[in-house]
Amino acid sequence: MLNVVLFGPPGAGKGTQSAFLVEAYGFIHLSTGDVFRANIKGATPLGTLAKSYMDQGQLVPDSVTIDMLAAELAKYPAAPGFIFDGFPRTGPQAEALDALLSGMNASVTAMLALEVPETELKARLLERGKTSGRPDDADPNVIQKRIDVYNADTAPVQHFYEAQGKYIGIPGVGSIEEITQRLKVALDTL
Ligand code: AMP
Repeated sequence: MLNVVLFGPPGAGKGTQSAFLVEAYGFIHLSTGDVFRANIKGATPLGTLAKSYMDQGQLVPDSVTIDMLAAELAKYPAAPGFIFDGFPRTGPQAEALDALLSGMNASVTAMLALEVPETELKARLLERGKTSGRPDDADPNVIQKRIDVYNADTAPVQHFYEAQGKYIGIPGVGSIEEITQRLKVALDTL
């Protein structure tokens, strides 16, 4: 069972690349952002809570996010492997993921981290905001806040996986196909 954390700042291409990797490897794709957005659409209490953070570019609190991820994982007892997109985003989330997977006799195989310079991220997010319908892509101040939160709270999660020898950096600039190819080369070494 291959369990991959697809890591990187907002706009790095995690969602786009996940779709190709699901097709090629049959992963179950778990995107915490997608689950929150589905809850917002469904007007659930979780959606209302998550929206109040997401619209400000802030992280949804760990306890809420971890409980939600645990519930998602439990839906797939026979999964061939997971690709985690947008999770973990904090140290406590990384520890919780290890604990949850170990309860399933599994572990994180590797973190594949898409490395993209900040100027490129901002340009991509503003472009995506024209069509994504995501309020957090539409406002340059919220985009900056998301990048700042990433640098402060999420980037350090890299060290958690480096310490376990599981970190793999992937250059995230180039065509979508080129980046997919780099990810596949890395996955095929695991
Ligand atoms: P994403 O779709 O991954 O860009 O996430 C969109 C927003 O959802 C983030 O800016 C956060 O507000 C929230 N979110 C998604 N995943 C997490 C997470 N693992 N921890 C906390 N908040 C999250």
